[in-house]
Amino acid sequence: MTVSASIPTAKSRVLIAGATGFIGQFVARASLDAGRPTYALVRPGLAGCPSKSRALKSLHDKGAIILHGLITDRENMEKILKDHEIDIVISAVGGGNVLDQVALVEAIKAVGTVKRFLPSEFGHDVVRADPVEPGLQMYEDKRVIRRLIEEYRIPYNYICCNSIASWPYYDNKHPADVLPPLDHFKIYGDGTVKAYFVAGTDIGKFTMKIVDDVRAVNKSVHFRPSSNFYNMNELASLWEKKIGRTLPRVTVTEEDLLAIAAENNIPESIVASFTHDIFIKGCQSSFSINGPDDVEVGTLYPDEAFRTLDECFDDFALELKDNNKDLGSNGNAAPNHVVESLALSAPCA
Ligand code: NDP
Repeated sequence: MTVSASIPTAKSRVLIAGATGFIGQFVARASLDAGRPTYALVRPGLAGCPSKSRALKSLHDKGAIILHGLITDRENMEKILKDHEIDIVISAVGGGNVLDQVALVEAIKAVGTVKRFLPSEFGHDVVRADPVEPGLQMYEDKRVIRRLIEEYRIPYNYICCNSIASWPYYDNKHPADVLPPLDHFKIYGDGTVKAYFVAGTDIGKFTMKIVDDVRAVNKSVHFRPSSNFYNMNELASLWEKKIGRTLPRVTVTEEDLLAIAAENNIPESIVASFTHDIFIKGCQSSFSINGPDDVEVGTLYPDEAFRTLDECFDDFALELKDNNKDLGSNGNAAPNHVVESLALSAPCA
């Protein structure tokens, strides 16, 4: 039996901190697509970064109300929450800014009218996953924010959406911005450990369904689409099918990943520590999600399909074709030709 979501209204007023960031853009677009009054909180000074200015303009054109401010400014955050009668706050600040959310949580508590808060999570379940340093520190920070939210009894969701649908480069925190490899695959360990891959648009879409779904309140929401459960070897074969040729496979061992993590180059070493946790230790599927504080998103919305990884890789193949057109070629990937991975966008560091 499908239990009714009892969604009260599609018009809750949503504030998104970090709306021009990688994850924040997916969430903000989905909020606007769902017809919600959407307030995008952005830090002042985006003018120097063309890709962020473009992101901001596109959100504005779609109907977002742009507010400037810092989540560390508690007084201003309280004013924004009150003045705009914000119902739902979603934070998508980057991994290095997780503790900035303390002041935001304090503001939400002080105002007392926010119906749901989603802190910046959007990855693994940080109380279950246990990466090596330096990734562990980010999880410690996210755990601090969880404890504060729970202590203040703020209604919440923790979005555990696992990996973004893309080739999981061990040294790139936004791998969906880059094409899968065109020269050789780096396979972690024996390439048999599976992970869940979720399209950015689905992270946004399902997040915006959850935010006022009473069945999800105060739960960690796990994204485990069975259609998108792949290991590295399967992922490589999928991409080979799309580009119509095979590529050499190079093994990146557990020791290699641990050595890169130990170099403590931020953010690459953080990504390497997560890569180790996912593709060596199997952190995404090593626990079951049947506890009272957990829910799997597919059980909430059984009739809503996820984009398949196959479709997402079709998009990458299309991008490749377009890039090749831009470069003046015939639009087909040349067989046995070594090509560097192409960035699809140029984010500011
Ligand atoms: P980004 O670095 O791309 O964007 C962060 C955004 O937050 C930026 O817009 C930034 O503003 C804004 N911001 C940072 N600090 C503040 C502040 N004090 N006040 C207001 N705004 C602020 O972040 P990501 O999208 O990479 O990360 C978001 C979350 O998603 C993180 O928790 C991360 O761990 C997770 N993640 C998950 C991935 C996955 O595969 N599942 C992949 C990547 C991230 P400005 O533009 O001025 O810098």
